[in-house]
Amino acid sequence: MSQTRTMTLPPTKAASASDGMQLTGCPWHDVKAMLRQVGLRPTRQRMALGWLLFGKGDRHLTAEMLYEEASRARVPVSLATIYNTLHQFTEVGLLRQVAVDGSKAYFDTNVTAHHHFFIEGEDVLLDIPGSDVIVGKTPDPPEGYEIAQVDVVVRLRRKA
Ligand SMILES: [Zn+2]
Repeated sequence: MSQTRTMTLPPTKAASASDGMQLTGCPWHDVKAMLRQVGLRPTRQRMALGWLLFGKGDRHLTAEMLYEEASRARVPVSLATIYNTLHQFTEVGLLRQVAVDGSKAYFDTNVTAHHHFFIEGEDVLLDIPGSDVIVGKTPDPPEGYEIAQVDVVVRLRRKA
């Protein structure tokens, strides 16, 4: 088991986008309200992708996984649009990006501080319950910076 620590500097706009949001219980309305709240126009594609992303509780998805879901749901959208939308959602704080390795970015619908297990070979990202178990002492940031967030990904493999 190896451990990767990623420090995100400088601060991202990670302020919880769900602050003060009124949930109506209807995912479609919720997505529209969510997009309006963060100043994104609720286009058909954003609505459809937002509905796929946020309609099922906390999830970890790559662009490819969302693309597959969209295809299954017959949402006509390109992989490039999915990438753009995921990055837009991340910029406004609706999603949190978790870099697992150079080639794979996961997007987390839970934007609160928490850490992850990554199961190698199975491409599964899991939340580590309890947010402060991993980090003993955070390092002093360089002059002029503050720690915005500490992301820990603990990589797992099956016992031989
Ligand atoms: Zn997570």
